[in-house]
Amino acid sequence: MPHGNSGKTIRLSKSCLSQEEKEAVIGVLDREFLGMGTEVQRFEEELSHYFGRPALCVVNGTAALHLALQGVGIGVGDEVLVPSLTYVASFQAIAACGARPVSCDVLPHTLTIDWRDAERRLTERTRAVMPVHYAGGVGDLDGVFLFAGHHGLRVVEDAAHAFGSRYRDRLIGGFGDVTCFSFDGIKNITSGEGGCLVSEDRQLLQHVRDSRLLGVERDTERRFAGERSWEFDVSIQGWRYHMSNLMAAIGLRQLHRRECLASIRQARAERYRQLLAPHGGIGLLEQDYGAIVPHIFPIVLPRNIDRDRLRHNLQAMGIQTGVHYQPNHWLTMFKDHQADPLPVTDAIAKRLLSLPLHPDLTEEDVDYVCASLIDAIRRAGCLDDNPS
Ligand SMILES: *Cc1c(COP(=O)(O)O)cnc(C)c1O
Repeated sequence: MPHGNSGKTIRLSKSCLSQEEKEAVIGVLDREFLGMGTEVQRFEEELSHYFGRPALCVVNGTAALHLALQGVGIGVGDEVLVPSLTYVASFQAIAACGARPVSCDVLPHTLTIDWRDAERRLTERTRAVMPVHYAGGVGDLDGVFLFAGHHGLRVVEDAAHAFGSRYRDRLIGGFGDVTCFSFDGIKNITSGEGGCLVSEDRQLLQHVRDSRLLGVERDTERRFAGERSWEFDVSIQGWRYHMSNLMAAIGLRQLHRRECLASIRQARAERYRQLLAPHGGIGLLEQDYGAIVPHIFPIVLPRNIDRDRLRHNLQAMGIQTGVHYQPNHWLTMFKDHQADPLPVTDAIAKRLLSLPLHPDLTEEDVDYVCASLIDAIRRAGCLDDNPS
């Protein structure tokens, strides 16, 4: 079996941890306080400082989206505009509020929400829009905010892919209505599992401080003081969504290493682009890798290629690939037979292929992946070379 340069399989994505994270976890284990306490408090403080706005940590990115939506008042019967081309987490978070996710089409060059398409799907029940920062890029985010402002919609950003990305010189999470991040094992920074939301809306923030702890009023404040709530009131629906000290210990050290982790992702994505751009048959996203931190590296394959077979061939060469994503409007739960079609999403989704991208990927790995990919596509007779 031929393998990647390094003699092992080149993984699509992976957690990349240093000695610092390992020692921090052992520190938490030694102190024998695993729940939500001072490590979480410190992680929140440093995230808030980084974003320049209050950040609250929760158990994962899906929970951040769920609590953000609930916190801005999304409930039964409401509709939320969301691109179909996202992880099912975005859709399930909306459905968890009793609301309906309304599938929207994407812009062809960034695969982010097309707000003009979203506008056509407005009804009197539409309450919010959830742009998804696909692959770390944000598309026409100014356009989304203008559109939302015009129609009185809340904007809950799914920034799970975009930790560290900048848009027009502003940090994602540093502005906007409410921005949600994921720190799951393979995201731009990880806390094992975890997530956070960032906002300046005081009412929303207090709602989330309580709702992440089963609605127990002021439990966050007591836990950070090393106490617990024995007598309390509950007046809102809450969930068991808080973060543990173990996770925060990992997250905090990843936050400290963010620039190093980000610059490798940016350099590898830039190299992919340099090597793949001369091959006209391979479609690349329009991204500025000086500004955004890419979470994944999706390409659009030539029209007639058998993606399953290509993936199988690459796997045999020691290269793992992925598909981001199967559109949600294709899923049984989120199908809507009355809805207008989503031509861009439907045309592109079957041709998407994600190449390996993570901070342990070497430049030689990227070269090997590109050479193998180009060779495999050429052998399938599908490459339209125009090296000019
Ligand atoms: C990872 C991800 C989420 C959810 O984050 P979890 O931490 O895995 O719950 C939401 N949306 C998108 C686009 C994601 O990639």
